Amino acid sequence: MRKLLVLGAGTAGTMVVNKLRRRLDRHDWQITVVDRDDAHHYQAGYLFVPFGGYDRGDVVRARHHFLPDGVEMVLGEVDRVLPDDDAVLLQDGRRLDYDYLVVATGTTPRHDQTPGMSESEWRRSIFDFYTLEGAEALAAALRDFDHGRLVVHVTEMPIKCPVAPLEFAFLAEAWLRGRGIRDRVELVYVTPLDGAFTRPVASAYLGGMLEERKIQVEADFLVEHIDPKRKTLVSYDEREVPFDLLVTVPLNMGADFVARSGLGDELNYVRVDPHTLLSVAYDHIFAIGDANDIPASKAGSAAHFAVEVFVGNFLEHVQGRAMTGSFDGHASCFVESGDDKALLIDFNYDTEPLPGKYPLPYVGPLSLLRETRANHRGKLAFRHVYWNLLLPGRPIPLPAHMSMAGKHVPHEEA
Ligand SMILES: Cc1cc2nc3c(=O)[nH]c(=O)nc-3n(C[C@H](O)[C@H](O)[C@H](O)COP(=O)(O)OP(=O)(O)OC[C@H]3O[C@@H](n4cnc5c(N)ncnc54)[C@H](O)[C@@H]3O)c2cc1C
Repeated sequence: MRKLLVLGAGTAGTMVVNKLRRRLDRHDWQITVVDRDDAHHYQAGYLFVPFGGYDRGDVVRARHHFLPDGVEMVLGEVDRVLPDDDAVLLQDGRRLDYDYLVVATGTTPRHDQTPGMSESEWRRSIFDFYTLEGAEALAAALRDFDHGRLVVHVTEMPIKCPVAPLEFAFLAEAWLRGRGIRDRVELVYVTPLDGAFTRPVASAYLGGMLEERKIQVEADFLVEHIDPKRKTLVSYDEREVPFDLLVTVPLNMGADFVARSGLGDELNYVRVDPHTLLSVAYDHIFAIGDANDIPASKAGSAAHFAVEVFVGNFLEHVQGRAMTGSFDGHASCFVESGDDKALLIDFNYDTEPLPGKYPLPYVGPLSLLRETRANHRGKLAFRHVYWNLLLPGRPIPLPAHMSMAGKHVPHEEA
């Protein structure tokens, strides 16, 4: 029996075991997946919790319902990988041996990493929505908030779902307008980037949307500490941004055991080849989803496209053949923009988000880099796609590699 061990039964790990269980002979392969608990969170749904759109029941399901027969689930906290011994130690002392290891333990917001963030104002005037508890606490705080400075803040890149803080700012603006108190609130978007987003065309478009909504942007802001007494963000270059209510995306980091195992970079992301997701140091270890250091967006959609490529590669690799699949960094993300509209962006390592139609040229039905109601309906429908198709590893009729069909490059028109 050969042993495949998957660490993390989140978005990527669950898809991996579902797809590989169908492809690996049950007489030859034992598959085990480890996670610390049995609660799977649809994290994209956290965005709607502060505004009362979703609650806990909409975003949490038992993990084991999504695991197929023939996959053993182990509940436990991973303590470290012993890559030279092909074994994983859990914190309770159990040892799991493997022939092949897939690290899929994601990335986590770490409010403990910024001085002043976790102190007296945490969950009083400083909130996050990257955890369910944070989103629920923020919902209560927003209900009581009726005037002052609402600051939406990104600590440092990379973060998972890099558009989520922008979506939060757009939804907050629409929500304040809906309550008739928009003119009593100053909305500020604070980012370490030089504009609204990472890539130029999307950054200009999304920046324009912030401007239209009179959301002030404080760019190139690298927070050094938060002064909880003065309720102020302070940057390394000594700029200050005061707040009454701060909605922050704390520094995102891979799991600490990745560092203890000697597999990670300075943010605990496993170093892998960006096209095969095979560890650069160990021939029996892959890392998939948010846990690796590839320069793709950390997003469920990117994890899905990566898994599609990974499965074929894995089957070749374990047979001693060269891997022929190459992941291109493809990600597709809806961007909620308020008033029941959303945009869609579709991009990869080499091609930035461009305007156009998706997935079919001319037809869509989704529009790229343009706000539409159809995109918003797509975003809401995605929750059902996630639970019923994506996680169980069922086929989704979207190509893993990004396509230029339906896209156009704005400057080529000029
Ligand atoms: C607010 C928000 C909005 C988002 N919106 C979108 C969106 O619209 N579209 C999109 O595509 N993506 C979105 N994402 C991102 C998406 O949720 C993640 O990219 C995706 O879940 C990554 O999957 P993963 O399997 O790599 O990590 P995860 O799904 O986070 O799974 C990691 C798993 O590892 C487990 N784990 C970690 N460490 C240990 C340990 N030491 N021991 C045992 N178990 C461990 C965790 O319990 C978890 O189950 C959003 C995320 C957030 C927070």
